[in-house]
Amino acid sequence: MPVEYLKKAPLHSSSDAGETQKIVRDILDDIEAGGDAKALEYAAKFDRYEGDILLTEDAIAAAAALVPEKLKRDIEFAHANVKKFAEAQLKTVANFEVEVIPGLIAGQKAIPVNAAGCYIPGGRYSHIASAIMTVTTAKVAGCQNIVACSPPRPGVGIAPAIVYAAHICGADQILAMGGVQGVAAMTFGLFGLPKANILVGPGNQFVAEAKRMLFGRVGIDMIAGPTDSLILADKTADPEIVAADLVGQAEHGYNSPVWLVTDDRALAEKVMELVPEHINGLPELNRDNATAAWRDYGEVILCADREEMAATSDDYAPEHLTVQAEDLDWWLERLSCYGSLFLGEETTVAFGDKASGTNHVLPTSGAASYTGGLSVHKYMKIVTWQRATRDGAKPVAEATARISRLEGMEGHARTADIRLKKYFPDETFE
Ligand code: NAD
Repeated sequence: MPVEYLKKAPLHSSSDAGETQKIVRDILDDIEAGGDAKALEYAAKFDRYEGDILLTEDAIAAAAALVPEKLKRDIEFAHANVKKFAEAQLKTVANFEVEVIPGLIAGQKAIPVNAAGCYIPGGRYSHIASAIMTVTTAKVAGCQNIVACSPPRPGVGIAPAIVYAAHICGADQILAMGGVQGVAAMTFGLFGLPKANILVGPGNQFVAEAKRMLFGRVGIDMIAGPTDSLILADKTADPEIVAADLVGQAEHGYNSPVWLVTDDRALAEKVMELVPEHINGLPELNRDNATAAWRDYGEVILCADREEMAATSDDYAPEHLTVQAEDLDWWLERLSCYGSLFLGEETTVAFGDKASGTNHVLPTSGAASYTGGLSVHKYMKIVTWQRATRDGAKPVAEATARISRLEGMEGHARTADIRLKKYFPDETFE
């Protein structure tokens, strides 16, 4: 049976990709040609900032002094949780060796990239939590050079709490530069920074496009679009909490989709009544974002049963997925496409966004159908090695020579032949 849309989004894509691509291409080309001076020009133009670009120890201490003590403790609490979770992830990255055939040993090693560039968005909101998520995870992975980069507020600099968070989480350098110019500075190694091997962290469409264009010469965590969230709720869900959770995620931006999928019509109708009330209670900027997001991208979908709800959710492959329904174990077992899953009313997406330990840099726009979010693994190269005894090499060389000749790769075949001849001079091989 097809699902019923009680509210369907009039818009499905906010893409002005062509225009963004042109803007970003021009800035990247300009900065690659013009170096530090050009990056500074763009910083002055977009962020109206002409202060220190790399924060000194004194500047970091001065910023820390401005952060209220209670907020410092909260940042430290979130850092400890994210660190503990990342350390548990690190244990799942196995180095191993296996004797593939007698005399031939092959192995796998996980090697952290040398330099990580962590983008911490700061245009609309001060994303303290993004500093915690990206820098802590890079540190636990073992990166030797970690640059935290965030847009300065006009004339002032990076928000002090972001500076404090980046510093205590392990950033080696803090770069006060936003948008494309910040991404370019980390990639091209401007201002004496090491050239980044990987760029991570969320950002607006300019940041995302710059990462996409630079991918190849530098690694990236993912191509991120606007944040999205889906709630699966049955008749046991509390409509006030469902409404608050939808609105809490809609405030991210005017184009941040939030979806409710339920098998209970009464719950759906109550939530649709409550969402505007929750939105109206927000401060102005947040209210404007949430109003547009709910109006243009919000959806309420009625399904026949929980199996259809799960199938619908997997089809959307949301970045954040919440279940407020009976039998949480069934949902954990059944659901397969999400960036991060929040089971039960007692936890919520904002916990994961800020402080519970799982990472908040997650796949958006359906990418959860093929990838998970930021983890220590994204900062690591899983590489392989091998060595062999002469007897171990023998059957591999014979097979290699035959396969290579069939492929027409004579040079490859001869690298096998030369060894067989050297190690087994009295034998003939075909
Ligand atoms: P931002 O730091 O990403 O972007 C600010 C920068 O954009 C500025 O420094 C400026 O250089 C550049 N910029 C602005 N207008 C420009 C223009 N016209 N041309 C060229 N450059 C321009 O901050 P933001 O804008 O607030 O965006 C933050 C984004 O990060 C949001 O989309 C939010 O949803 C997302 N986010 C996602 C997650 C996640 O895990 N998915 C977490 C936190 C934030």
